[in-house]
Amino acid sequence: MSRPINLGTWFGLKFTISLWSIVSYLATALALALVSGLWLALSANDALLAGALSAVMMFLCENLHQWGHSRAARRLGHPMIGVHHFSLFSFCVYPPDEPPLPPSVHIRRALGGFWINLLIGLLLVPASITLWPTGGAIGWLTAFTAFWNGAVLGLGALLPIDIPGVFTIDGGTILRCWREMKRRGA
Ligand SMILES: [Zn+2]
Repeated sequence: MSRPINLGTWFGLKFTISLWSIVSYLATALALALVSGLWLALSANDALLAGALSAVMMFLCENLHQWGHSRAARRLGHPMIGVHHFSLFSFCVYPPDEPPLPPSVHIRRALGGFWINLLIGLLLVPASITLWPTGGAIGWLTAFTAFWNGAVLGLGALLPIDIPGVFTIDGGTILRCWREMKRRGA
C-alpha cells in the first residue's frame, strides 16, 4: 500500500487521495470516452473530452457529497477532520480520539451527503432530456452527471451495504445505527 497523497486543506478539511483512486479515475475517464464515443458516435476528440470531463465531474461531486457530511457533522458538534479518496469513492475522516457517539448522531451525519447529489440529479433531468438527443460531449456530460448524482451518489448511497471494517456506505451506517437504537429502546 502506498501512502495517501495530500491534496491540501480545504474548508477546514484535509483531503487525501490514494494512488489506486487516481488510477481508477484515469481508467474511468478512458472507459467513459469509449462508451460515450460509441453510444453517441462522437469524434475521438469529443469522446476523450466527454470521458475526461465525466471523471472530473465524478471527483467534484464526490467532494460535494462529503461537504454535505461535514456540514451535518459540524452542526452536530462532532466535526470531520478530512476526506480520503480511496477509489471512485471516498470516506469521511473523523478525529481518532472521538468518543463513542449515540447512534442518532451517526445517522444524522450519514444523512448529510446524499441529498445534495439527489438534488443535482433531479435539477439536471430537464436539461438531460433536452440535450441528450442533440448529442455531443455536452449531451453526454449532462445526462451522465444527472445519472451519477441521482442514481449513484444520491439514491445509491442509501443502499444498506455494511461490511464492517471493509466497506460501509451511508445506508449501511443508517440501518446499523437504527437497529442499535431499537435494541437500546427495547
Ligand atoms: Zn455519504
